[in-house]
Amino acid sequence: MESAEIARRFLRFFEERGHTVVPSASLVAEDPTLLLVNAGMVPFKPYFLGQKKPPYPRAASVQKVMRTLDIDEVGKTTRHASFFQMLGNFSFGDYFKDKAIPYAWELLTTPEAQGGFGFSEDRLWVTVFHDDDEARDIWHKQVGVPLERIQRRGLADNYWHMGVPGPGGPCSEIYYDRGPEYGKEGGPVADENRYLEVWNNVFMQFQLSAVRTKIDFDIAGELPAKSVDTGMGLERMAAILQGVDNIYEIDTTYKILDRAAELTRSRYGRDHRADVSLRVVADHMRAGVMLVGDGVLPSNEGRGYVLRRMLRRAIRNLRLLGAGEERYMHELTATTLAVMGEQYPDLKSDAANIHTVIDAEETSFLGTLRTGTAIFDAAVEENKRKGVTVLAGGQAFQLHDTYGFPIDLTLEMASEQGLQVDEDGFRRLMNEQRQRAKADSAAKKTGNADVSVLGEMLDRAGRVDFLGYDHTVAEAR
Ligand code: ATP
Ligand code: MG
Ligand code: MG
Ligand code: MG
Repeated sequence: MESAEIARRFLRFFEERGHTVVPSASLVAEDPTLLLVNAGMVPFKPYFLGQKKPPYPRAASVQKVMRTLDIDEVGKTTRHASFFQMLGNFSFGDYFKDKAIPYAWELLTTPEAQGGFGFSEDRLWVTVFHDDDEARDIWHKQVGVPLERIQRRGLADNYWHMGVPGPGGPCSEIYYDRGPEYGKEGGPVADENRYLEVWNNVFMQFQLSAVRTKIDFDIAGELPAKSVDTGMGLERMAAILQGVDNIYEIDTTYKILDRAAELTRSRYGRDHRADVSLRVVADHMRAGVMLVGDGVLPSNEGRGYVLRRMLRRAIRNLRLLGAGEERYMHELTATTLAVMGEQYPDLKSDAANIHTVIDAEETSFLGTLRTGTAIFDAAVEENKRKGVTVLAGGQAFQLHDTYGFPIDLTLEMASEQGLQVDEDGFRRLMNEQRQRAKADSAAKKTGNADVSVLGEMLDRAGRVDFLGYDHTVAEAR
């Protein structure tokens, strides 16, 4: 079943059950606490909180999402993309667990010929929050799932909140058993690669007043109404329904991967490292094209930096695949536009602009790479000669400051050489520089403080601080 058909079926199913189909919002979040939309519920947040009256009691959507938190997983696990599409049905104070759970089961298990996804019942496992007997009873008594395939999980896995004061509640996840060749038995609690999470149903019920960590928060009371927020990964469904091992091999993404293999004259499925690179290229091309399509431009902070990181990592991985100085981004952008354009027709009219932005980033980054790599190699050479296994903070800082090498690139390249990087030292130097810059520009600050602060954090420390803005929804799930 093609990706586009999966989306159509999902929407049709919920439309027939009284849901208003709402088009995807832009990846650029209106919500000031987020840089990028990272869950289907984000555009509906004010309805859950009771801050705005929803124009419809039920909605369904296919939302474009971006999870920077998952970037390091890309290409390595079988199930994490940076950009993906979340199918969701939502109830704003209308139905609750009693309807959401049977709906989910019906859609998943109805035969394909009758409009469903045709999963056989004994392949499906579910989890519920540890004390959520109500959900467990609905799964068991109303739907008929045997108790041995219903697992209880605690706050870390089965309670959703935003990471900041706001709505939250227990959730129930649905997993598909891919079979013994994917891992050990025992349900999702035992192995999340074999048991692939496809759908999360969140039962929004509480108002959280303080959130200290994911599992440490205060509940102030009940929300004005009990609501439902669900998220199903389109790409994960496609992997199952298309019988492929991972989300990079599905109809849409695989065409990009295949083109990258063709251009770099590599073969997918032969060498683990090359496979990871091909998957990273395919994923990041999709993310990059979709971000530019939503108006993001490469820059050194905030969402512009997320985009820059996607494009640069794609270019770097092409070089790891043997691209050398060859320029392949134009071709790969064209393939991505063709593949994604079927579901997102706006991409077609934006094609010229998207090419211009991505080509320009390639030009500038290839230049950076050329000089920076020479400096990096010299530093590595020197360290090896001295028997030093840690790249000094000052070296990383110089690469960043003088040659525009982002720290995550230095980290990645160092680890490829079996070297560590003194990140604390690097951060200290960055901080000092930032303090100096702050003194100069303190008066120039404008609004949108959240985003710029997070962007700075991100710029400062790369990977670690991606958590800074993604956790508000993604981590909490
Ligand atoms: P996982 O535990 O596998 O990381 P999650 O619990 O973080 O997933 P949710 O926040 O519950 O995921 O998101 C809802 C759904 O979106 C998931 O059930 C899954 O189908 C899909 N999904 C989540 N993260 C990704 C990702 N990085 N790439 C592709 N699909 C994803
Ligand atoms: Mg999960
Ligand atoms: Mg989940
Ligand atoms: Mg996750």
